[in-house]
Amino acid sequence: TEKMLDIKDLSVIYKTDLETVYAVNDVTLSLEKGATLGLVGETGAGKTTLALTLMRLLPERTGKVTSGSITFEGESIVDLPEAHMRKIRGDKIAMIFQDPMTSLNPVLTVGEQIAEALQVHNEAGRSKEEIEARVDETLALVGIPPARKSEYPHQFSGGMRQRVVIAIALSCEPDLLIADEPTTALDVTIQAQVLMMIRDLRDRLGTSMIMITHDLGIVAQTCDNVAVMYAGEIIELGTAEDIFTHTKHHPYTDGLFASLPNLKSKTTRLQPIAGLMPDPTNLPKGCKFAPRCGKCMEICKEVPPEVYTDGTHSIRCHLFHQEKED
Ligand code: SF4
Repeated sequence: TEKMLDIKDLSVIYKTDLETVYAVNDVTLSLEKGATLGLVGETGAGKTTLALTLMRLLPERTGKVTSGSITFEGESIVDLPEAHMRKIRGDKIAMIFQDPMTSLNPVLTVGEQIAEALQVHNEAGRSKEEIEARVDETLALVGIPPARKSEYPHQFSGGMRQRVVIAIALSCEPDLLIADEPTTALDVTIQAQVLMMIRDLRDRLGTSMIMITHDLGIVAQTCDNVAVMYAGEIIELGTAEDIFTHTKHHPYTDGLFASLPNLKSKTTRLQPIAGLMPDPTNLPKGCKFAPRCGKCMEICKEVPPEVYTDGTHSIRCHLFHQEKED
């Protein structure tokens, strides 16, 4: 299988006159065509910053890539001219945000919004009639009767609105779909439906996907590979099998699992682990998890751990390097 996305040693900061936030630190990741990667971690771990960097939607004044590279389908995302990037955005990479209301325009009908998305990326030169037909098809695809296309976003329920957002994201048949907590703002009963729909469409369209979530249940149901983020770093990376069935884990991942009574139960939301994530403007010099880690050793406070790799599974922690030396 070929790699569609290759991220190497990526670091991203937000810099103002007052402070520098180290949001993404030295991230290396890749995604194969058709695969789904789960990006897991607490709020503030850097998941959304990573997604915005992939879309090149970082806040212009403050957000900055300080090192590393992102190669998407052979092109270097970090330094593409904006005009070219605009074609990739929406056409090749689409993103679904947490709150559907923020990505919908309240004064346009849902039909008009899907048509607009199709027109922006209309390389095929579709006629008006063809675009209208495609709007109907897209709505039907997400389970909305095409007759409702002349309604406005506020006339839809939360779950239906998120379906509209998904319809817009998928209307141009992107190669990569980034879903940032796509069901968090929805009722629990609707969450499962919307998730099932995303999964079904992904399988039908062959879309690759990055699923950002703090819900391990969603990861278990959706993802081929899992990356756990903490304080801007990937601290554990592996196949879903590595993460869900192996016993060797980063102490932070262990903490995440310990807070889960049962993956099949309804309460799969991550419970907070004791302590707080470190201040991103002033990260610890050794392991970034050291202040909260029950297994912290002297070396952890001084030296940032290297990544330990065992087949498809990698963990950023001194424990496993020590194990090897013993
Ligand atoms: Fe804990 Fe040390 Fe491993 Fe960090 S490197 S997670 S402090 S054991």
